[in-house]
Amino acid sequence: MSAGISAKIIDVHTHLSEHAQDLLIRFAHMNGLRYNLEELTENMRQLGIHQGLLMSPPLSDGSPLPNSDVIKLCERSRGLLKPVVTVEPTTKHVNAAIKTAEENVGQVKAFKIRLGYIEASADDPVFNRLYDFAESHKIPILFHTGDTATRAGDLSRAHPLTLDKVANKRDDLLIVLCHFGNPWFEDAAELIYKHPTVYADMSGLTTGGEYAKQYENWVAKRISEAIYYAGGANKILFGSDYPVTKPSDALSVVKKLQVEEHDKEKILWGNAEKLFGL
Ligand SMILES: [Zn+2]
Repeated sequence: MSAGISAKIIDVHTHLSEHAQDLLIRFAHMNGLRYNLEELTENMRQLGIHQGLLMSPPLSDGSPLPNSDVIKLCERSRGLLKPVVTVEPTTKHVNAAIKTAEENVGQVKAFKIRLGYIEASADDPVFNRLYDFAESHKIPILFHTGDTATRAGDLSRAHPLTLDKVANKRDDLLIVLCHFGNPWFEDAAELIYKHPTVYADMSGLTTGGEYAKQYENWVAKRISEAIYYAGGANKILFGSDYPVTKPSDALSVVKKLQVEEHDKEKILWGNAEKLFGL
């Protein structure tokens, strides 16, 4: 990747709240990040990240930051960040999320469902109205999949294979497996291969610590193999999960992928541009 072509990068997975009860502050400290809008936008400019999708971080009471706060942060970013609306598993939340998407048409680029953190699975009927809306408006849904940031998370609900039933039933639902189902990369690859509507983002895969370099190499190898299995990189998306992973570290994983340069370009922006209409 030359500096010139990196100017269009899209980060499909960032968090921010500027809220004292934000549970991701712990990760920000680990990464030496100040974790505020100024730092995020400055980071993006320096790295050639031209657009980002912003979603709620979890707060200390377990609830996500209200979507209205995410929309306000996006407004302050002067177009750099676009909102993702987080949807909790109650009829009230589902209806409110749809209303927010309708009121901010063209701005809201995706919905997010926090599998593993909520008391519902992806195929819970409470989400039916949301899925109908998302299908008819071609708005992708980002699903947290894989490892949960807290010990209380429910991995049986966060496993990527829980999305298979949903994808079988809904031909037009655009599904993004966040974190590539980490550590179930092969299972995620099977879903990407099986369903034309299933994508995966590469966010939050590295968080430093012991063996950080070896781990980064291991992850890059596993994602490369998943791309071979899926038969290409057309549905793989770059994401950082700021502040869980530093955007520069997330980019370093993409650079290490053993795939063609044109596939890295698709991962960094081409696929996201098409999927989210950016
Ligand atoms: Zn995240």
